[in-house]
Amino acid sequence: MRPFSYQRLLHPRDVTTLHNVSSRDAYIAGGTTLLDLMKLDVMHPERVIDLDALSQSQDFGGIEVADSGLYLEALVRMADAADHEHVRSNYPVVSQTLNLAARKQIRNMASLGGNVLQRTRCPYFRDTSWNACNKRTLGSGCAAIGGFNRMHAVLGTSDNCIATYPGDFAQALIALDADVFIIGPEGNRTIKFAELHTQPADEPDIESTLGPGELIWAFRIPAGPWTRRSAYVKVRDRESYEFAMASVAVALDLDGDVVSEARIALGGVATVPWRAREAETRLSGKHLDAEPRRYEHNAFKVQLGKATLVRSLLQVKVMEI
Ligand code: SF4
Repeated sequence: MRPFSYQRLLHPRDVTTLHNVSSRDAYIAGGTTLLDLMKLDVMHPERVIDLDALSQSQDFGGIEVADSGLYLEALVRMADAADHEHVRSNYPVVSQTLNLAARKQIRNMASLGGNVLQRTRCPYFRDTSWNACNKRTLGSGCAAIGGFNRMHAVLGTSDNCIATYPGDFAQALIALDADVFIIGPEGNRTIKFAELHTQPADEPDIESTLGPGELIWAFRIPAGPWTRRSAYVKVRDRESYEFAMASVAVALDLDGDVVSEARIALGGVATVPWRAREAETRLSGKHLDAEPRRYEHNAFKVQLGKATLVRSLLQVKVMEI
């Protein structure tokens, strides 16, 4: 067992007074990822900073509906956002990604902020008996390239890591062009959701653009004519809760049968939440130009991703809104 210190934040202002947070510390909210990975000895923070008490605060645990869009604060439980009446009727893709992400017990515990920052399910990452994993130990190699990589990514990969981003909710956020409000010791800032995650490139151990001590405060999903005609289709090996083999979040603005605007994100096939701008453009009559990289066991994902996209488009086309 590895020793670590524990600190509990009780008030939102405590976040801004944390000036000595480093990469050796870890925030915990619902704990559904961090505790697993600590028990597996994959993550071993020196200090765990508990945010859970802040979920009762209106600064971190609220859902707000405004003309400009939907505000979801980071410590809202997945279940509370998924079951929110306005979210279900006006942003169905958000509700569906949350409901399809995990079983009810997990949805009742896990926070929205923690969910989008969950770590990969690459089995070589989670099993420390494999030495080669650049995400765990930079420079050690990648056991998945040349190993069993059926579940791994075909988009956004590098020669250092091909781990798939595992989340579902993130696909709704990137498709709907969400903003991320960030709070930290150096002040507040706002970025687009598409700027939150980083592709593995040369540094697979770095997964987000959050700086030391920064944490997600809230998400804003802009209102738009496409949010009500939206859906999430998730294809997995089994129908009970499982990570996506391929998934598509789609939102359409239709003028009759003609697509005025499409928002599409792909899950299960990429190293980060993947906005499929090529597919959106193609719906307007242009051609795809991205070439996926297939690995020994996962070449089928290219076709599966396309089929899942077609299925999701047909589903939202006939939606009654
Ligand atoms: Fe590690 Fe990434 Fe390779 Fe998996 S794919 S073994 S997470 S480096």
